[in-house]
Amino acid sequence: MPENTNSRTDRRKFPHTTAMMTPQTQAILNINEATAKKLAKLHLNTLWDLALHLPLRYEDETHITPIADAPLGVPVQIEAKVLTQEVQFKPRKQLVVQVADASGSVLYLRFIHFYPSHQQQLVRGNTIRALGEIKHGFFGDEMIHPKVRQAENRSLAETLTPIYPTVNGLNQPTLRRLIQTALKHIPPTDTLPNALLNELQLPHLTDSLTLLHAPPPEYTIHDLHNGALPAWQRLKFDELLAQQLSMRLARKKRISGSAKALCGNESLSQALLAQLPFTLTRAQQNAWAEIRRDLAQTHPMHRLLQGDVGSGKTIVAALAALIAVEAGFQAAVMAPTEILAEQHYLKFKQWFEPLGLNTAWLSGSLKKREKTAAKAAIAEGTAQIAVGTHALFQDDVGFDNLGLVIVDEQHRFGVAQRLALKNKGEDLHQLMMSATPIPRTLAMSFFADLDVSVIDELPPGRTPIKTRLVNSVRRDEVAALVRRTGEMGRQVYWVCPLIEESETLQLQTAVETQQQLQAELPSMRIGLVHGRLKPQEKADIMAAFVRAELQVLVATTVIEVGVDVPNAGLMVIEHAERMGLAQLHQLRGRVGRGAAASVCVLLFSEPLSELAKSRLKVIYENTDGFEIARQDLILRGPGEFLGARQSGTPMLRFADLEEDLNLLEAARRLAEPLITKQPHVVEQHLERWLGSKEGYLGV
Ligand code: ADP
Ligand code: MG
Repeated sequence: MPENTNSRTDRRKFPHTTAMMTPQTQAILNINEATAKKLAKLHLNTLWDLALHLPLRYEDETHITPIADAPLGVPVQIEAKVLTQEVQFKPRKQLVVQVADASGSVLYLRFIHFYPSHQQQLVRGNTIRALGEIKHGFFGDEMIHPKVRQAENRSLAETLTPIYPTVNGLNQPTLRRLIQTALKHIPPTDTLPNALLNELQLPHLTDSLTLLHAPPPEYTIHDLHNGALPAWQRLKFDELLAQQLSMRLARKKRISGSAKALCGNESLSQALLAQLPFTLTRAQQNAWAEIRRDLAQTHPMHRLLQGDVGSGKTIVAALAALIAVEAGFQAAVMAPTEILAEQHYLKFKQWFEPLGLNTAWLSGSLKKREKTAAKAAIAEGTAQIAVGTHALFQDDVGFDNLGLVIVDEQHRFGVAQRLALKNKGEDLHQLMMSATPIPRTLAMSFFADLDVSVIDELPPGRTPIKTRLVNSVRRDEVAALVRRTGEMGRQVYWVCPLIEESETLQLQTAVETQQQLQAELPSMRIGLVHGRLKPQEKADIMAAFVRAELQVLVATTVIEVGVDVPNAGLMVIEHAERMGLAQLHQLRGRVGRGAAASVCVLLFSEPLSELAKSRLKVIYENTDGFEIARQDLILRGPGEFLGARQSGTPMLRFADLEEDLNLLEAARRLAEPLITKQPHVVEQHLERWLGSKEGYLGV
């Protein structure tokens, strides 16, 4: 099995389905409803699901290794006689069994969790087989929690033993038997044309499955745990191909749909541009042109506007909204948090009011009367633009003539919200924005159904941010730096530690941090903003910071996205080691927005885990969001980027995007010709790979 799948078994999870096995399939497998239900938990509902349920790893029970010859730290099977058995109570309750094999070597077997059945099996004088890794223990060599069986009358396994992912109550032998039965009943024909397999030098599917489920004796564990094994390559390819095909079909479906063409005359957008104190960067202009072209089409736009923090996505979104308005439609702008949504609202209002446009503000926290008024303006069309949180897409909000939806930080929205948006209008143009760069491999796979515009340059005149890693024992020096920054007339963010276990504790820490800083720096104006404040209070504090009435803003991570204060020159992040790379990068991007030099201080506390060390190193050495995202992908897999998308897209179980780039490229290259020339192949392939999961595509 490829290494990555071993260590990330959670990638095998699919979204909940209510699908169940048909009675016919149950009959073929000779199982009852109860077993079928357990299989359903593993999303095994068809013969193909079973055939494609591949081992996580293999165990070698084909031979016995003499204890004296056994290498340390790798799984071996030994056969030995029990000499003694003892339940010890110190340092904790455990079963310790001493065994010796024919070579006369002695070994301890230690069980921290054990049942009476273990004690029965391991009585003195019994000959047993134990499978596990030998390590040097305190009293001698030992195996901890080996797999133990009686040795008498048991012949050695002829092939390696596959170990499958399973659920409670479904043991390995049963699963193995069902999978073998399924393999006998699936059609042996390959879906992929021979020519293609030859070209890619891939073996047939059924051959690959047979090999992986019951490897012939000549295969070693080493062979089978290697993802480069042709059989694994075939499965990875098929999986990647299924993903490419389904993405492309979803895209084709969207493109065949109908939407209102939004053709603006640029009267409003040019007026806004004339009003700005800056000109658009080349990248912003390109992105805007791409959006304008999409909006003029009669099928819905699905475009992701991607740009590093501070690259200037907001103005591009505003220009897109104006195209809709010029064409006689409304635009809705949605952001995941109240603070971010409000920032957009204030900015848009400031830009649009001089153009004679009316921008409505809708969030969950509005008073009933304000909400009613906002909804009325949206429904009657007196508000051409509506900005808000997901409250915008609740059932009782009706638009007069909605043409474009803009979603900021789209990856932070949950599935329910995405579904609500989807139900509001399949035929709406959608512009999504994200500062979390999507690494190339993800863009080629999970995000293959989106069109992407990238803002790949920052507005001119910015000085790169200096990043400093500072041990928290030197916090005093940081306080001094805060003072100096204030004396230079610049402002400071101080981000309090993330305390995942307790919101109360997090709040308390923030309050104390503010008090402590205020005590250390009595002449400075220090404000505090956190998630428990009322929206109006938050807005007031943020506004005071924007107007530079506050010099220091102590904050929980609420300032993470979107806040724009170019005069801020210092960002201090406490317990930076607890934060993810994407978050650190976002926070750091809150400074360095003006021409003057800015500093980001990452305070860390020891001890640091290996992961934390690697993350701090990456953020210290890199400023480019794309590189940081790529490193993040390597450090922790694609979960972070996919966010809500996970539930919409079949996760890859076998393929690894970085490692299997060549297969991904091949799958991408072949998907389109297959769809146009061999639709039956596509249908069969997707049926096999997605089966009951297909309904989840495209959410
Ligand atoms: P983000 O992409 O992170 O949402 P913003 O849209 O908030 O970034 O823009 C960051 C800052 O850069 C804002 O202060 C914005 O006014 C400014 N800005 C945007 N485009 C330009 C430009 N072309 N030239 C100069 N400043 C710009
Ligand atoms: Mg933004």
